Amino acid sequence: MADKMATTPWLEAGARHVWRPYAQMKTAAPPLAVAATRGARLILEDGRELIDGIASWWTACHGYNHPHIRAAVESQLARAPHMMFGGLAHEPAYRLAARLAALLPGDLSRVFFAESGSVSVEIAMKMALQYWINKGVLGRTRFLSFLGGYHGDTLATMTVCDPDEGMHALFAGVLPPQHIAPLPRDDASEATLASLLTAHGHEIAAILVEPRVQGAGGMIFHDDQTLRRLRRLADAHDVLLIFDEIFVGFGRTGELFACEGSGVTPDIITLSKALTGGTLPLSAAIAGARVFDAFWSDDPGAALMHGPTYMGNPLACAAANASLDLFEEGAWKADVSRIEAGLRQALEPCRAAPGVVDVRVMGAIGVVEFETAVDSGALCQRFAAEGVWIRPMGKVIYLTPPFIISDAELEVLTGAVRKIVGWA
Ligand SMILES: *Cc1c(COP(=O)(O)O)cnc(C)c1O
Repeated sequence: MADKMATTPWLEAGARHVWRPYAQMKTAAPPLAVAATRGARLILEDGRELIDGIASWWTACHGYNHPHIRAAVESQLARAPHMMFGGLAHEPAYRLAARLAALLPGDLSRVFFAESGSVSVEIAMKMALQYWINKGVLGRTRFLSFLGGYHGDTLATMTVCDPDEGMHALFAGVLPPQHIAPLPRDDASEATLASLLTAHGHEIAAILVEPRVQGAGGMIFHDDQTLRRLRRLADAHDVLLIFDEIFVGFGRTGELFACEGSGVTPDIITLSKALTGGTLPLSAAIAGARVFDAFWSDDPGAALMHGPTYMGNPLACAAANASLDLFEEGAWKADVSRIEAGLRQALEPCRAAPGVVDVRVMGAIGVVEFETAVDSGALCQRFAAEGVWIRPMGKVIYLTPPFIISDAELEVLTGAVRKIVGWA
């Protein structure tokens, strides 16, 4: 079926052929046709401009069409848009790997590139499984992850998502079951997790967690102490620790990497979303020495057998290097504090609205949580009528704007949330 109310010729022609994400195609409202992007704005085909409250799924941290990133991609496009990564090397990827290693905490320094977040998590999981195989330890075939977690939509990453969010029921019997537990937020839950690890540690390859904020699972926060508990437990039970910073990495929580303040270094970290400043698809699974050393061998069988076709794409790496230049310039830090203050002040009144159970802010993430799930599609349309692009999920209406958003634009976003929350 074509989407109803398509108003633009290409939209009408393509609507019967495009299968849209997370959509019941029969009933979903038609998508908004976007002609161009600029700064913190989406410019629609009908001429309206929407202020983007979610930075295109948390990617466009420096805003859209940033001139520095654009110039870097254009110049790389003229030089070499793509080449295979097997047996060939190019400057953008090698430079990016060295820069990421310098920025990341601890000894996280061996960068394996891929094209999407889910695939980088799959690679991190594969590294963890093979780490134990290479060490001659058998039976470490499962993972421990957390309620409220989200790590991707591919088959292996679905198994480590929250069971309710992650479609476990639908694919029961197809996907291998993992251990999924509450986060160790206090001594009692740490003790529960410790006994789980005592009983099952011998079959667990790694613990997998999104540090500080569980994003797609509902923007649920936890503290640095939780991460320190996880490191302690992982060490005590000799399992690897993987941090999935695909959402929180690159400044979103106020630190360049969300785990920084905890003093905890994971054995593997995954990055994607804001890695290229929202310009091109790119991800990375980055291992520390402990993991990499287990693959360093005269035995070809101990190698990591993985290599996505578009791995380390030069355009994407050029965009990521340009995005890192912008992070090095440092304005993001003050911007995130400014947005944090703006969100705190402007969202606070939502606490009194009917059905609202919590309002919380961390860095450039503002969340209004309801008691029950909200009607995301209907709310999207209401928000668009207010001149903003906000796409609630589950029980939360949230804002994760580009860091370059102006105070005036941020006020439009928060004003729309206050207005709609009164209605929701
Ligand atoms: C978005 C996300 C993923 C999946 O990334 P894709 O690029 O959509 O495959 C994995 N983990 C976290 C924490 C994410 O936010």
